[in-house]
Amino acid sequence: MPEGREVGGWGGIGPQLAARLAKLDIRGPHDLLLHLPLRYEDETRLTAIAEAREGDSCQCQLTVISADVVARPRRQLVVRGADDSGELVLRFLNFYPQLARQLTPGAILRVFGEPRRGFFGVEMVHPRLRVVAPQEPLPQSLTPVYPSTAGLAQSALRKLVDAELRRHPPRDPLPASLRDRLGLMALPEALEILHHPPPGIEQDSLQSRDHRAWLRIKFDELLAQQISLRRAYAARRARNAHPLPASGALSDRLLAVLPFALTGAQRRAWQEIAADMAGTHPMQRLLQGDVGSGKTVVAALAMLQAAEAGFQSALMAPTEILAEQHYRKIAQWLDALGLEVAWLSGGQKKRERRAMLERLAAGEASFAVGTHALIEEMVEFPRLGLAVVDEQHRFGVRQRLSLREKGGDGCHPHMLMMSATPIPRTLAMSFYADLDVSVLDELPPGRTPVVTKLVADSRRDEVVGRVRDACRQGRQAYWVCPLIEESEALELQTAVDTHRHLCEALPELAVGLLHGRMKAADKAATMAAFADGAIDLLVATTVIEVGVDVANASLMVIEHAERFGLAQLHQLRGRVGRGSDESVCILLYARPLSANGRARLKVIFENRDGFAIAREDLRLRGPGEFVGARQSGLPMLRFADLERDVMLIERARNEAPRLIRDDPATADAVLAMWFAGREGLLGA
Ligand code: ADP
Ligand code: MG
Repeated sequence: MPEGREVGGWGGIGPQLAARLAKLDIRGPHDLLLHLPLRYEDETRLTAIAEAREGDSCQCQLTVISADVVARPRRQLVVRGADDSGELVLRFLNFYPQLARQLTPGAILRVFGEPRRGFFGVEMVHPRLRVVAPQEPLPQSLTPVYPSTAGLAQSALRKLVDAELRRHPPRDPLPASLRDRLGLMALPEALEILHHPPPGIEQDSLQSRDHRAWLRIKFDELLAQQISLRRAYAARRARNAHPLPASGALSDRLLAVLPFALTGAQRRAWQEIAADMAGTHPMQRLLQGDVGSGKTVVAALAMLQAAEAGFQSALMAPTEILAEQHYRKIAQWLDALGLEVAWLSGGQKKRERRAMLERLAAGEASFAVGTHALIEEMVEFPRLGLAVVDEQHRFGVRQRLSLREKGGDGCHPHMLMMSATPIPRTLAMSFYADLDVSVLDELPPGRTPVVTKLVADSRRDEVVGRVRDACRQGRQAYWVCPLIEESEALELQTAVDTHRHLCEALPELAVGLLHGRMKAADKAATMAAFADGAIDLLVATTVIEVGVDVANASLMVIEHAERFGLAQLHQLRGRVGRGSDESVCILLYARPLSANGRARLKVIFENRDGFAIAREDLRLRGPGEFVGARQSGLPMLRFADLERDVMLIERARNEAPRLIRDDPATADAVLAMWFAGREGLLGA
């Protein structure tokens, strides 16, 4: 269906224009009101040409001296003009013939643009331009500049917004009592100011979005987000779950056989989880902690609690490799207690898998570990009480919630999500408002921090030498191949080439290769060989990014580190430094480095703490990367800034539950204002 038809017109707007507006996510009159300026231009003042400063946008008024279309160096319109203070040259590479005709000598122009020193003196390229009458007054207010798209002029957008403001003056969704209590400006007033800043307004705060008018908009946006997420939370919370109270019968035994004591953070998180699981409504908790913070054992304790209450549990991971790691670890722990863990993998023989499924179905096995897909599709759990989902951010909201009613008795399993990507506090407070969050903010003791080195890839040979030395001393190493986003085939080829090259350069070592295209069974065999020390050097694509745990590996080389994201580099680096020996992570980079690549490597080089890195990442890239699969259907923020608007986030978080409980009509009005026509996306 052509886009124009699909969108259709509305409010006197034809289908073609509606289609363009839809590209800006404007789908109805309300959206026009909330289509707020990106910035403002000051056309209330004139700058004398002699005072115009390079790089500072300004408005000048000049009288045309000449206007000529010249052919060299390429066809362009060159206009010369002057005011009392000096001369200015305007250049237009694209222009309508109509424009050239208007610019007769003696015409008076107002131009707005960025002056620069050119060959002919001061010039502006493609300034905004208007022919004016000699005494035409200057505008009284700043000129809004709206986000726009091809085929939609600023002036057209301005007219649409103005017409809408006049035709349907906005109503304030918040009652006056609430506004007064929070010191909020009325919404109609805020919108009026932002669309038509009055003369004399404090310009800096308008541009930087600190003005009270902006604060009101941002508060409402955050409030709408909180309300929608809290309602989704409440809807899930209204379901039933089997209470799984802790008896300690099994968990105490695990704690007794573990070779370590829990950290304080692990104990706290476990208590929070234990309390949720004892309830009659499904737990919806996110356990987040930096790489290596020890989430697995907390998950194992939760699984044991389910078993203590006579229920089964499943742990799912996004990849076979990760699932296998979990299986090894959990099976090792539970073996010691004489408990059986069922392993479900795409790589295992059909017969084996069927046997596992039968044991689960018969209730003979209480624990299952496997990939998400397998457990989703195949497992008939008669008594599933707890589902643990690792690396939850890799699954969509919908996917993670599609595991439901496996018990068949109207009860939902308790859900524990785990994420190794530390989520900055403000992000957790806003985008994760539909989950309870436990944080492991403490690493187990006895870890030696990883030493990070930045090395230009012209010094590869030295790096190969370091690998040789480390492996000779009985240590193991990873060599991570470059990420090639455009082409999986190229990425694979590079991995194969790198492997061959390293085999030749290091004939005395056992060099293994691991990449995403290998059969699951081969991957598992290679990982197992590396874990057992049969492989010295493991060449890998980013399939090892998450969860791999080989304590003897103390050296990691990452090629073309500048291509990786911060979170990814941090995750990769977390694969070493798991033992007590000093570990090294070498980031090989190719010159020349882009400014952004340099900034990213600097952050990784300077920071070890995943939360600090995540904050930088949030600053460099915005929340989209974190929210990832979650975002489909989640209200993104257009105006509020997670770093600068902490106060507003906190207020919105406090108000949302109060409104939902005491004033649902207002909560509805706020949602309608922000998500009209998009409700289908919410409440997954
Ligand atoms: P992650 O949070 O990245 O999933 P893991 O659960 O894989 O971390 O734990 C990393 C390593 O630390 C594992 O080898 C695990 O056995 C070990 N570990 C976990 N908790 C502790 C602790 N309290 N003290 C010492 N080692 C621990
Ligand atoms: Mg893990």
